Amino acid sequence: MIKGVAASSGIAIGKVFMFEEEEFIVEKRTLTDYEIKGEVMRFRKAIATVREELKKTSKSAFEKLGKKHSRLFDAYSMILDDPMLKNGVIKMVVKEKVNVEHALQFVINEISQSFMEIKDEYLRERSKDIIDIGKKILKNLTGTKINGLKDILSEVIVIAHNLSPSDTIAMRKDKVIGFAIDMGGKTSHTAILAHSLGIPAVVGLKNITRHIKPDDMVIIDGSQGIVVINPDEITIGNYEREKKKEQEVAKELGKLRDLSAVTTDGHTIELSANIEVPEEIPIVFEGGSAGIGLYRTEYLYMNRDDLPSEEEQYKQYSEVSKSILPNSVIIRTLDLGADRMSKTMEALAERNPFMGLRAVRYCLKHPEIFRSQLRAILRASVHGNMKVLFPMISGLDELKIVKQFMDDTQYQLSKEGIPFKEDIEIGVMIEVPSAALTADIMSKEVDFFSIGTNDLIQYSLAVDRVNENVADLYNPLHISVLRLIKMVIEKGHMAGKWVGMCGEMAADPAFTKILIGMGLDELSMSAISLPKIKNIIRSISFSSARELADEVMAAEDQGDILRMLRRDELSRENRKK
Ligand code: PEP
Ligand code: MG
Repeated sequence: MIKGVAASSGIAIGKVFMFEEEEFIVEKRTLTDYEIKGEVMRFRKAIATVREELKKTSKSAFEKLGKKHSRLFDAYSMILDDPMLKNGVIKMVVKEKVNVEHALQFVINEISQSFMEIKDEYLRERSKDIIDIGKKILKNLTGTKINGLKDILSEVIVIAHNLSPSDTIAMRKDKVIGFAIDMGGKTSHTAILAHSLGIPAVVGLKNITRHIKPDDMVIIDGSQGIVVINPDEITIGNYEREKKKEQEVAKELGKLRDLSAVTTDGHTIELSANIEVPEEIPIVFEGGSAGIGLYRTEYLYMNRDDLPSEEEQYKQYSEVSKSILPNSVIIRTLDLGADRMSKTMEALAERNPFMGLRAVRYCLKHPEIFRSQLRAILRASVHGNMKVLFPMISGLDELKIVKQFMDDTQYQLSKEGIPFKEDIEIGVMIEVPSAALTADIMSKEVDFFSIGTNDLIQYSLAVDRVNENVADLYNPLHISVLRLIKMVIEKGHMAGKWVGMCGEMAADPAFTKILIGMGLDELSMSAISLPKIKNIIRSISFSSARELADEVMAAEDQGDILRMLRRDELSRENRKK
């Protein structure tokens, strides 16, 4: 039994699938003289296809990102034409009579090794490009072998060192019934997605991949953050019973779907859902949401070689917006960067990506991408009830620049005679401490705030949200975090603006009462969590929530806060009995 970080609740029992990202297992095969010519032709054809693909990617990167980014793909094409690679592989196939995959892997290894020995850092880094090109050709030669989780065809539990958010979103929920990985924290996007998709998951296990073999059987207990390897019959029986119980509780909570989230003394909280892709909308309805409180648009940019066009974005945003009517959708502009990379961004490789060119910062450095998204959002705004939310805003100056982009885009659309909602509401995410501390100043410039605790906690406590080594230090109840949240709510309300929360803290039943007591107007979370949060809201009074929040806010000791919450929970449980 191994303990990690509980990322997504639920129990899964099944066979293991060890996932290694883009690992190609290439076998060596000896050719007959008769086969050699065909093998060389196969190689030339693969090179030609990859060259065409690169040309397309380069063109699209040039159009959307400019010369700087398209250059990477041009450099890839040059590697492809390098005689060292081309002739090297052909020579080996002909002379040693081996299959082209084997020859290619050998030659790529040789070339990348020689680059790695170069002193110049820039050139040394190019060894990665060479390996990348090798993979592209190999992929082409080997056809459709498993190279992504979407290709898994039988029910499995995925075990991996790490999974990126783009790997996770590509999973088929009916096939990947659970996963466990060495890396990650509770609010990493891999964990958030597992939660949204309803896949039980444990992350931050540090070395689970060393303990598990391909044919093992495992149990994932996503609520406790436990993985049991090769369990005996009794353990399997216990977990199966536990799973059934969880399903019954979920069924019972499902009955709350059409009821509102109102406290026993009549205070209503808006409960809405976070989504990443439109495919989640049926789950949003099942959860009984009052709308979409956070639509993370960056997922449209992932798992593809090109950027989505304005038209494609317009279609997707309109579709989401229409489907959720009469409720509203808060559409967040791109939060790419850090743990969420599009393929066109991979070259960025920053040293400290969470502090780097992420979200609105990335958009401001790539105005063409930002403008195209704003145009698509504004065009789609006439089809529903849409609000816009800007991520990672650090203060008033940045907010003003972003608003200027909005104004310019609106001006341009009016000039073109394209309709859009002129009074569209604008909000900022409060997820950087500097934004929380200047919420009073920014409140005059926006219609609402949405507190992003996933980042607010990581930036306030200097605890990387995806780093398993500091996962135990990630503390939503830290007095500093609570003070920042309280401050934002107060400043927002003083200016007559509503304040919501869309970070994972909003989805944790342990925090519901204190968050309501602090005065939040809205809580937005993965739709799967909505019933259990609604259940709590309907069982508490606003006045007692306020008392609890006041008591907690006056505490100086972290232990005291935990004791206060525990005591309150126990008294609620006793009253229920
Ligand atoms: C947050 O930071 O709390 C948030 C909701 O945004 P994301 O998880 O997408 O960074
Ligand atoms: Mg965030």
